[in-house]
Amino acid sequence: MELGDLLRFSHCGRTVFTMADAAPAPAGLLRCPECGLAPSFSLVEAPVRVRSPVVDGHRTSCCFLVTSRHGLDGLSEETDCELHVGISNSQGVVLSYTESGVQREQHGWEQSLVIPLVSPGNCIPNWDTQLDHFAAMDTWTADRFEEQREFGSCCYGFALGFINQLMMSQGKQLITRERFTSDLVLPRVEAASKYLAVFRHVCRHGYWMA
Ligand SMILES: [Zn+2]
Repeated sequence: MELGDLLRFSHCGRTVFTMADAAPAPAGLLRCPECGLAPSFSLVEAPVRVRSPVVDGHRTSCCFLVTSRHGLDGLSEETDCELHVGISNSQGVVLSYTESGVQREQHGWEQSLVIPLVSPGNCIPNWDTQLDHFAAMDTWTADRFEEQREFGSCCYGFALGFINQLMMSQGKQLITRERFTSDLVLPRVEAASKYLAVFRHVCRHGYWMA
């Protein structure tokens, strides 16, 4: 399944989702599945493009990325046991900690949930150098992976460790894994889950209506 954007509009008191880029349905040809009429372009009814929350991690820079080795199905599960996390550098190369040590990947993160770590237009000088230095620490060698696993960290430990090192260098408060997960990761996984469920339904039936 090729994931894309959706269109959302309201009609007959219902919320309708359809495929954003499906031919031959530019917004003007949209029909309400309930009454068969086209939505008007009033403020209330006008279709809105809803962007897919799953993006190509290699097209991001300086982001926290969440992906699954099981593709979209893995991302749509509301559990973090199958999830793998990493940090992108300024060139879209993703660093993550695995049982083979720190990986630097230019492929494999094409379907990721993204949490930007730097506000748009800002940049942190030497991001790549800092990330490389952090990745080179003894903590993240392959033979210490099991040891890290016992602390329940592994890939999370690496990514959060780097974020906290940045926080510290900026004099900011450190963030715990629990808070990061509950405030930033889980809401995105849940949103992606819902999006994928709606998207699948739209693929099969042409629309989804609430
Ligand atoms: Zn209608």
